[in-house]
Amino acid sequence: MESYDVVVVGLGALGSSAAMHLARRGKRVLGLERFELGHRRGASHDSSRILRHSYHTPAYVRLTQEAYADWAALERWSGEQLVTVTGGLDLFPPDPAIAMVDYTLSLTDVGIPFELLDVAEIGRRWPQFSLPSGTVGLYQERGAIVPAARTTALMQKLAVAAGAELRGSTQVLALSDSGGRVEVELEGARLTADRVVVCADAWTNEVLAGIDVRLPLETTLEQATYFAPSRPGSFAPHHLPLWIWMDDPSFYGFPCYGEPTVKAAQDCGGPVIDTSDPLSRTTDPDPEMLERMASFMRRLLPESGDPVRSIRCQYTLTPDRDLVLASVPGHEAVSVGLGAAHAFKFAPTFGRILADLATSGTSISDISAFRLDRAALTDPAYQTHWLV
Ligand SMILES: Cc1cc2nc3c(=O)[nH]c(=O)nc-3n(C[C@H](O)[C@H](O)[C@H](O)COP(=O)(O)OP(=O)(O)OC[C@H]3O[C@@H](n4cnc5c(N)ncnc54)[C@H](O)[C@@H]3O)c2cc1C
Repeated sequence: MESYDVVVVGLGALGSSAAMHLARRGKRVLGLERFELGHRRGASHDSSRILRHSYHTPAYVRLTQEAYADWAALERWSGEQLVTVTGGLDLFPPDPAIAMVDYTLSLTDVGIPFELLDVAEIGRRWPQFSLPSGTVGLYQERGAIVPAARTTALMQKLAVAAGAELRGSTQVLALSDSGGRVEVELEGARLTADRVVVCADAWTNEVLAGIDVRLPLETTLEQATYFAPSRPGSFAPHHLPLWIWMDDPSFYGFPCYGEPTVKAAQDCGGPVIDTSDPLSRTTDPDPEMLERMASFMRRLLPESGDPVRSIRCQYTLTPDRDLVLASVPGHEAVSVGLGAAHAFKFAPTFGRILADLATSGTSISDISAFRLDRAALTDPAYQTHWLV
């Protein structure tokens, strides 16, 4: 049987980062990906993601400080510029579904500067917005765009350069752990590893079934739409920040990034889907979701133009929307990283922490909130809340 120090299951952003960090620490790493590398059936494809400090708890704000440092390290290792700072504007309408005080207190607690802007001041700085009176904007100057598919591919390249072996089109069928080395079953082959890191997102439960772990996850099929403003210059990154509409429904959007379009999407706006047959999952745009997004854009950013294309992408959600970043209790050789649909910004951080767990069993980062034995993952009566 082939044997490795660490097998990483799933090579989206999180698994690719784990493989890269582990290989850079000199481990003999095998990364396994069910589909071709760079595929579009998971969560890590397309052009862009938001990186921001603004979060609803001090623990998350502190983790974002680590994220900025880990992105900077990735830029140093690769020699590529990845972080485009645009500023980020969280827009709270009167009586918002998402509490602004959670954000202001958390940022203040950690010492991250921000400004609170009224409609007149937002209009003075960014006349592109048309806002209901009474809206308050929380502006944080370090809000940034990071590339999605490009970063995932880059981390795979760095993993291979550091000695990792990455195999696409190779599905892990089962794991078994009898207390020694972990056995990994593939079609027609078995291999063993000292440690296994599972970053299989929507398919996490399938991979963990062999060690009797089942998390209460739900996967939704989301949609992001690109709009073509007739004057893209006024939507350029230095003229428009990233924005998030902090209500229910919640929407978010980007300035132009690499093309003369602006991207926008609803957070948790798609239907829950069955992921057992990923090849039958539609990639077609949903016309109702498109109209919901387009009508919101006509109100918020009237000059943003017509929709020109939409892409689909999966959210895999925990009941509390919190991350999973932990070793499996009773099977400490296996650790799990799951992003709860807001972890691209943390991808370099996940890789570092998962490498810590696989090499020493602990991490200097505070990951206590992301345990597998927390109530949201173990108490069937836990009330699901996805908007944060
Ligand atoms: C539309 C959209 C917008 C988002 N916006 C943001 C944002 O602005 N900021 C932010 O921080 N985050 C954002 N996110 C969330 C972020 O993109 C995800 O949290 C992150 O990409 C998840 O990465 P992953 O590697 O865990 O998942 P995936 O990319 O889905 O990777 C999991 C991989 O595991 C593989 N796999 C599964 N089972 C097996 C198996 N048995 N054997 C081998 N391989 C297997 C899958 O094929 C897949 O490639 C967004 C997500 C979406 C969909």
